[in-house]
Amino acid sequence: MNNYGIDIWGDDNFIIQKDKVCINYKNKPSLYSLVKEIRNQDFKGPLLFRFPHLIEKQISTLFSLFDNAIKEYDYKGSFNAVFPLKVNQLPNFLHPLIEAGKNYAYGLEAGSKAELFLAMTYNKIGAPITINGFKDKEMIHIAFIAKKMGHNVTITIEGLNELETILEVKKESKLELPNIGLRLRLFNAGSGAWAKSGGIDSKFGLSSTEILETFDMLKKHNIIDALTMIHFHIGSALNSIQPLKKALKESGHIYAALKKLGAKNLKAINIGGGLNVEYSAYKRTTQYNLQEFANDVVFTLKNIAKQKGVEEPDIFTESGRFIAASSCVLITPVLELFSAEYDKKNLRLKKMNPPLIEELIELYEDMNKKTALEFMHDSIDHLESLLKLFDLGYIDLEDRSNAEVLTQIVIKKAISFLEINDYDELKRIDSKIQEKYLLNFSIFQSLPDFWGINQEFPIMPLTHLDKKPTRSASLWDITCDSDGEIPFDSNKALYLHNVDLSKEEYFLAFFNVGAYQDILGMRHNLFSHPTEINVVFKEDKVKCEKILESQKIIDILEDIDYDTIKIKNILKNQLDDTHYNILEKYLNENSYLKTTGS
Ligand code: PLP
Repeated sequence: MNNYGIDIWGDDNFIIQKDKVCINYKNKPSLYSLVKEIRNQDFKGPLLFRFPHLIEKQISTLFSLFDNAIKEYDYKGSFNAVFPLKVNQLPNFLHPLIEAGKNYAYGLEAGSKAELFLAMTYNKIGAPITINGFKDKEMIHIAFIAKKMGHNVTITIEGLNELETILEVKKESKLELPNIGLRLRLFNAGSGAWAKSGGIDSKFGLSSTEILETFDMLKKHNIIDALTMIHFHIGSALNSIQPLKKALKESGHIYAALKKLGAKNLKAINIGGGLNVEYSAYKRTTQYNLQEFANDVVFTLKNIAKQKGVEEPDIFTESGRFIAASSCVLITPVLELFSAEYDKKNLRLKKMNPPLIEELIELYEDMNKKTALEFMHDSIDHLESLLKLFDLGYIDLEDRSNAEVLTQIVIKKAISFLEINDYDELKRIDSKIQEKYLLNFSIFQSLPDFWGINQEFPIMPLTHLDKKPTRSASLWDITCDSDGEIPFDSNKALYLHNVDLSKEEYFLAFFNVGAYQDILGMRHNLFSHPTEINVVFKEDKVKCEKILESQKIIDILEDIDYDTIKIKNILKNQLDDTHYNILEKYLNENSYLKTTGS
């Protein structure tokens, strides 16, 4: 059977039991049973399940990895972590994260004013808040006020001008100065899609000249004691640990140099994010294991501290993807299989058919296991010839329709023969004969990283897992956009089941969608965020909580600044009450499709 790579990306969070994918926790409910429960409450369209127990698992894993490493190397510094809010700010994600982090003094990282407001509102007092990214006077002022509230705030300076603004705010507000961090522009960059976050040409951070200038300015204004942290982030989703090791060495030497210059309160190195998540269902892409990551960080920093004779720094991380990705699963109903519309009963055969049509009929009727592949390819050739004949005016529309139906039923019959053979034969099947699965969701809204950077996400049907899937699948979303497709890729072949949707439902799940997707998603075609559900376990029972329905059409229109009262009035004035009332009902529903099984 096909396990859809669950052993590669699943991290034991999900298991296959009989024919279904189940949550590998407590009473191990199937995802399908949760979908049924939600749909029984009449929620249609795509569903986004959040699993707070997986957020908790990731936080506790992160802390125990570093605990182990600290013990192993008898490291004197402490381990601290903050969650970068940019990775997921939505309340149904953030509240469980804050709750899960309480026992670890797990903090938050803010990169904008809005994120800073979230951090100062929800962060546990005492847990760290780090502030990165470009800042204006207002943002710095908010940071001072957060400090006044009792928060443990570090403003990471991205440029000398930010230090000047900090001095201004200090003078004008008379508030106590928060901690100051310096973002380093390291020579060593990461690798992969996000390598631009680090390296000498990076958009962020201070060059060594600027570090020295900042240091002089801190001294000159007698605030050198506020300097507590240096920071770098060399990029997200690091698949190799080598770039990080280089960055650790470079930052370790800068840390030691600043200590020697007299930064006596400098005590922390913040290594940013970058801890990878396995998204591939085909082969492991991460070339290190988690403990190795933590060990390398601790070991490298210990060595530098020893070599330079300075105290071992506290370690901060800002891992986001690692904490958030596994906690969300997107479930999409399959609305249609495009070959389903091709059936023998749709044929309009005539007394006299063109010879190629007669040959197609023979291919269909005479096919056996041995000839299946050959006949299938012959049928595709015949279809091409018949389409050319149609263009030239030699056959009519009925013949063309017969050609399409016959080719599809030849392919289906061939695949049913091939089912008993292995996937290599299936792989040889031409790209023209994949099944197209129409899914009730928007790629732009729910998987923006697939659209934007071709990010792979693990995909798996919720049911039928005891049967061999035989259809090479390409997935279509319901947007009117040709980019709204996950095409079949023979190097990462996705096979799905041949289901009759008039008789049974079929749902696909996309895993590891908890990082970045929620907030990067866009309302192309005005499809809004899917209906969200938090799945929590109380004792041994699973409960669906905090159900947040996908936005109503009227609210989507209001969000993009339409005067919805005016819209309603225009419609009302042009319609009788009966028809207007129908429209009003539809305006108050979400915009996903509502066909059978949707
Ligand atoms: N810290 C900073 C400064 C970042 O820019 C980012 C992401 O871009 C992160 C942390 C989170 O990285 P990741 O999600 O790879 O852990």
